[in-house]
Amino acid sequence: MPHWLETGIEYLKGVGPQRAEAIKKELGIHTLGDLLSHYPFRHEDRSRIYTISSIQGDGIWLQLQGVIRPTGIVGSGKGRRYTAQLNDGTGEITLVWFKGIVYLDRFIKTQTPYRIFGKINLFNGALNIAHPEIELVTAENSSSLLTLSPVYPLTEGLKRKKIENRFLVQMAHAAVTSNQFDIPENLPDAILSKFKFASRKDAVKELHFPQTLQRLEEAKRRLKFEELFYLQLRHLILKGNRNRSFKGIVFEKVGVHFNNFYTNFLPFELTQAQKKVLKEIRNDLKTGLQSNRLLQGDVGSGKTIVAMLTMLLAIDNGCQSSMMAPTEILAFQHYYSLQPWVNKLGLRIELLTGSTSKKKRILLLDSLASGEINILVGTHALIEKDVVFKKLGMVIIDEQHRFGVAQRAKLWTKGNAIPHVLVMTATPIPRTLAMTVYGDLDVCVIDEMPAGRIPIITVNRQESMRPAIMDFLRKEIAKGRQVYYVFPLIEDSEKLDLNSLMSGYDMVSGYLPPPDFTFSILHGKLKPAEKETEMQKFKLHQTDIMIATTVIEVGVDVPNASVIVIENAERFGLAQLHQLRGRVGRGNEQSYCILITKSGLSENGRKRINTMVRTNDGFEIAKVDLELRGPGEIDGTKQSGLLELKLADIRFDESILIASRVEAQQWLLEDELLVKPESKPIHQELQKIPNRTVWSKIS
Ligand code: ADP
Ligand code: MG
Repeated sequence: MPHWLETGIEYLKGVGPQRAEAIKKELGIHTLGDLLSHYPFRHEDRSRIYTISSIQGDGIWLQLQGVIRPTGIVGSGKGRRYTAQLNDGTGEITLVWFKGIVYLDRFIKTQTPYRIFGKINLFNGALNIAHPEIELVTAENSSSLLTLSPVYPLTEGLKRKKIENRFLVQMAHAAVTSNQFDIPENLPDAILSKFKFASRKDAVKELHFPQTLQRLEEAKRRLKFEELFYLQLRHLILKGNRNRSFKGIVFEKVGVHFNNFYTNFLPFELTQAQKKVLKEIRNDLKTGLQSNRLLQGDVGSGKTIVAMLTMLLAIDNGCQSSMMAPTEILAFQHYYSLQPWVNKLGLRIELLTGSTSKKKRILLLDSLASGEINILVGTHALIEKDVVFKKLGMVIIDEQHRFGVAQRAKLWTKGNAIPHVLVMTATPIPRTLAMTVYGDLDVCVIDEMPAGRIPIITVNRQESMRPAIMDFLRKEIAKGRQVYYVFPLIEDSEKLDLNSLMSGYDMVSGYLPPPDFTFSILHGKLKPAEKETEMQKFKLHQTDIMIATTVIEVGVDVPNASVIVIENAERFGLAQLHQLRGRVGRGNEQSYCILITKSGLSENGRKRINTMVRTNDGFEIAKVDLELRGPGEIDGTKQSGLLELKLADIRFDESILIASRVEAQQWLLEDELLVKPESKPIHQELQKIPNRTVWSKIS
């Protein structure tokens, strides 16, 4: 027999098929279970009835009770309204409605007590309430004052059909007071008692109709925990399944190439943090499990060398490696940074992108299949069907934010064994977000910058200060430094984009005229080969100034560049600004980031700019970014289950999130397959969660 929660809402007293249909359509609420998980987003205080004479001022919400004397329909056109006087014996107040006029005119009863709830306005020197909620006082509700009354999300469509909040309140109330009301528990007893949580049934009831504010908070705490617990559990189960279903290639030894490179060719001493993550990665690779790891590290923390050494581990164990980047520019960059190292070791590295010629491509695929190529660097072109490795053992995905989930899944078809995957993010993400978005990956962090880095000085300047800024650039260039000069991308219009870049070039070269000053220009409309030429010219210091759009945002590495100027900086997001700034500060010179803004910034814009000026710490910046934008806006969250959270908000519920993660881990440690009797509630709950098998394919 189906559970009571599966009952259709049309069977609730007073709902009926028509309204049920509208609610199903508008809110997706079909069953009583759906209804009770349509949580209120706030509560109104209906704990007392105020007297009209005691009302002090406007702007507050309150509840009144009295008899109504209609004054009828007045005004015309937009001003047409229905008005009435409410009298409670202590005074009178005007009630006014602009909608539902005819209905009110017909049905409002005089000489009968009504309960009124609404917001007090001051209008023309008198107090009134516009569009109050109005309800006849009946035998049933005369004594039962709801302490805190729920307010539910509604749609305009429902309002047009006269289904207002009050109706939903009645429905929810009917449901929780039904003598069949029951909600099965979905947390094990041990967890309930450990955290002193109320039962699910009580928590849901309190969430809709709390007796006190404190009980409301307790109910929320429990229900948030539950949401986060199941989110974490899902990640961990996914990881467990993956570990059980796929054997990882075992990298037993640290071999000749790794050792040769480490001893003879390492261009610098590794930082402690780099050594630490390398060790963690190495440990993964010999366990026999397929490794899925996220490597976090702020811009410039030196992820590339870690990737290089990781790829050598694969090669030393008879495998090939590949490194995938989101843009051609970045793929080129990686290729050029890795190539000299790889060549010194007598190994072969190749580049495959969308603009690799057909002829070259055929040859390249041949050598790839035969195993002659050790490392393949590329873009999306790497995941095309006909790209087949002899034995792919390690995949590095750089700047993974831009790779779609589906694209990553395709990697699995690249060889007969399942390669290890190391995802590198250039944009640090706060721990809470990492736990929710990448909860199924092992996470490691490079939390230290290479020694000798001088912190970048960031300033905010108005457009009017351009002459002084240009003087500064002149001096830096005279010292032998190079400059990035960035203009914002104009959305949806590459043509406008180019125009703004061209007028930007005119402007800058007006101050810093050629041939004394030399320019590279980089924008999205250039062909990849042209981009590469521009980039190389700058890299080889054949040019002083790089005029660019955000195409230079990620990965570009020119240590001699010491200044980045960003025009209209208020138009950029924090993550983007931080990435852009990361293009400088890569050498031994003091570097500068100059953020040029218009006056009159929005509050958010001001906060972003101030944050950039205040700190260089990518994790700190990511935290502010998360606060400003909310978790739903951050890249990569769509697939994470984060958006299904109804109560929890990882910005504010960090401690609950961490507790839930620990509990989920602990639980699976003791009962990995959830077969013990005490895991029954968990097992049952998981059955309800929609099928997500596709997840098991995604690293
Ligand atoms: P990111 O983490 O942003 O990808 P990169 O790997 O591009 O950073 O490294 C940034 C710069 O720092 C590069 O020029 C690189 O050669 C240099 N670098 C990396 N690790 C070290 C180190 N341990 N000591 C000195 N310089 C380093
Ligand atoms: Mg990088």
